[in-house]
Amino acid sequence: MDSGPVADALERVRAEVHASARAAGRAPESVRIVAVSKLQGPEAVRAAYAAGQRDFGENYAQELARKADELEALAGLRWHFIGHLQRNKVKEVAPRAAVVHTVDRAELALELERRADALGRRLEVLVQVNVAGEVQKSGCRPDEVGAVLEAVARAPHLVAVGLMTLPPLEHDAARNRPCFAALRELRERHGGARLLPELSMGMSGDFAVAIDEGATIVRIGTAIFGARGA
Ligand SMILES: *Cc1c(COP(=O)(O)O)cnc(C)c1O
Repeated sequence: MDSGPVADALERVRAEVHASARAAGRAPESVRIVAVSKLQGPEAVRAAYAAGQRDFGENYAQELARKADELEALAGLRWHFIGHLQRNKVKEVAPRAAVVHTVDRAELALELERRADALGRRLEVLVQVNVAGEVQKSGCRPDEVGAVLEAVARAPHLVAVGLMTLPPLEHDAARNRPCFAALRELRERHGGARLLPELSMGMSGDFAVAIDEGATIVRIGTAIFGARGA
């Protein structure tokens, strides 16, 4: 199997992530890379896995289900669900994801709890916040974070680990900085890093800025896997 290009890209991304962390005065191990494999074939995941990658992100419930089932034998692989999650798709996600980054309403927390309880498993969750307040994106408003966190706290099989955001201008790193800073400040208002250790923010085009603003999880797709297929 030719795992060259993915392994090389992964190595470059790791080096850049570490350099960004050091430039921000942070420990390189304080930033985790989630390799976003949406619209990539299972062989791309295998190549990254062979190069040591263990955290993978998927956006679509059905695609996650297919890929996770096909790659079940890869020990220690952790799936992160990072897409908009509809209530009727929770049944696909709850048995397979280790982490759900996109909990943005109490109703969704309730459904995840119901499924996780039935499966006897625990799920780590992040509350997705629409910090820029634009209408078309998913994510709760900043003033709704408390209510969503309370719903998660009442769910015995869910563990709130942090906050996530997806800024509107995904390819303009400088303009995304205020969104990343806003997410960090929002965390301060909800218990700080002790209660919510993770900040999931930053993608291929802006992870250096996100790390400078405190990202602990960066979600990187094209910089590792190249352009996405159809
Ligand atoms: C697709 C996607 C990513 C990765 O984007 P790249 O620009 O390919 O790195 C990260 N986060 C979310 C929520 C995504 O949908």
